[in-house]
Amino acid sequence: MSDTSFLDWPFFEARHRDLAKRLEAWCQRELPRDHADVDATCIQLVRDLGRAGFLEGTAGDGIDVRSLCLIRETLARHDGLADFAFAMQGLGTGAISLFGSAEQKQWLDRTRRGEALAAFALSEPRSGSDVAQLDTLAERDGDGYRINGEKTWISNGGIADVYTLFARTGEGPGAKGLSCFLVPADTPGLEIRERLETISPHPLARLGFSDMRLPASAMIGQPGQGFRIAMSVLDVFRSTVGAAALGFARRALDESLDRARNRELFGASLADLQMVQGHLAEMALDVDAAALLVYRAAWTKDMGAERVTREAAMAKLYATDRAQQVIDKAVQLHGGDGVRKGHIVESLYREIRALRIYEGASDVQKVVIARSALAENRPGTN
Ligand SMILES: Cc1cc2nc3c(=O)[nH]c(=O)nc-3n(C[C@H](O)[C@H](O)[C@H](O)COP(=O)(O)OP(=O)(O)OC[C@H]3O[C@@H](n4cnc5c(N)ncnc54)[C@H](O)[C@@H]3O)c2cc1C
Repeated sequence: MSDTSFLDWPFFEARHRDLAKRLEAWCQRELPRDHADVDATCIQLVRDLGRAGFLEGTAGDGIDVRSLCLIRETLARHDGLADFAFAMQGLGTGAISLFGSAEQKQWLDRTRRGEALAAFALSEPRSGSDVAQLDTLAERDGDGYRINGEKTWISNGGIADVYTLFARTGEGPGAKGLSCFLVPADTPGLEIRERLETISPHPLARLGFSDMRLPASAMIGQPGQGFRIAMSVLDVFRSTVGAAALGFARRALDESLDRARNRELFGASLADLQMVQGHLAEMALDVDAAALLVYRAAWTKDMGAERVTREAAMAKLYATDRAQQVIDKAVQLHGGDGVRKGHIVESLYREIRALRIYEGASDVQKVVIARSALAENRPGTN
C-alpha cells in the first residue's frame, strides 16, 4: 500500500482527496493493461478513462493542475501507458483550452469523453529543444493556409483524431513568426511517415505535411502567437510530467520496501542491512521532496499565478532526475529480478528515461531556473 499521507498537505482540498480515492479504486480494478498492442491499448484506455469521468479535467476553462498531477501520479504508479494515454488528452488539447475559439472548443467535448484522441505536434527533426527554429511552413493560400514540413516524436502520432500543430507563418523572426493550428487527423496532405519505437513503447510517429490545406478558422489564437501558446501549454502541463515521475518513483519505493521486508539474506531480512536502510531512506526522501515541488508548482498555478515557469521547471527537473535515481536503487535492491524482462522495476527503469528529455530536457530546465534566479536576485533590488 502506497503512502498517501501527502494528501493531507495544505495544497489539497477535500475534492482532491476524494478524486485520489476514486481513481485508486478504479486503478485497482482496471490496471495494469496488456501492452502487446500499444495502439489498441491506448485507444481503449482513453475510452475507459473517459467513460469513468477521469478525463473531465483535462480540457476546458480553469484546468485544475493539482487534479491533473494527482491523476498522473496515481496512473503512473499502476501503469505507465495509462498515464501516457491520460496525459496526451490534456497536452494535445491544451492550446484549444487556453486559446481556442468556441467552434474549436467543440473538440473538447469529444476528447473529455474519451471519444477522440489528441496530439501536440511541436518538435521537428532539426528543432527539438530549439523550438524557435522550427521549419514547418504555413503559407497564406487564398482564404486559408498551405502547410509543408515535418514533425517528429509526436506522441499519439498515428492514432490521434486531432493534432495541435505549430508552424512558421513569418510575422517576425524566430519565435515571433510561429502560429498554432487545429488539424483533424483526416485532413488531406497529412501523412504518418514513420512509426517510432522507443525503449518503453508507446504510440509515437514522424508526421509529414505535403501541401496540406487548412481554412483560416483552423488557426488557434492569433497569427504570430504560436510560441506563446506552446509555452503557455507547457507551463500548465510541465509539472504533470514531474507528477508522472513521482508515480513511477513511489511505485519503485513500494516495491523496494516489500522486497527488503521479504527477502532473506545472511540469516536476516534485506531490510535489516544498514546499507539497504540507507538506500531506502534516500528513496523515501527523494519521493517526498519531489512531491513537495510538484504539488507546490500545481498549487501555485491553481491559485491564479499567470506563469509558473520557475516552479514547473524545478518540479519537472527534480522529480524526473530523482525518480531515475530512486528506480535505479530499486533495480539494485531487486538483484537479478530487477533486470528481468517483465518485472515491474525493469519496466519502471525503461519508463522513466524519456521524461528527462521531453517537454524540455533536464539541462534546459536548469537554464530556465538559473535565468529566473539571476533575474530575481539582482544587486540593489529587494
Ligand atoms: C518519448 C518521447 C515523446 C515525445 N513526445 C512529443 C510530443 O508529443 N510532441 C512533441 O512536439 N515532441 C515530443 N517529443 C520530443 C521532445 O520534446 C524532444 O525530444 C525534446 O525537446 C528534445 O529535442 P531533441 O530530441 O531534438 O534533442 P536536442 O534538442 O538535440 O537536445 C539534445 C540534448 O542537448 C542538451 N541541450 C539541449 N538544449 C540545451 C540547452 N539550452 N542547454 C544545455 N543543454 C541543452 C540536452 O541534454 C538535450 O537532451 C517527445 C520525445 C520523446 C523522447
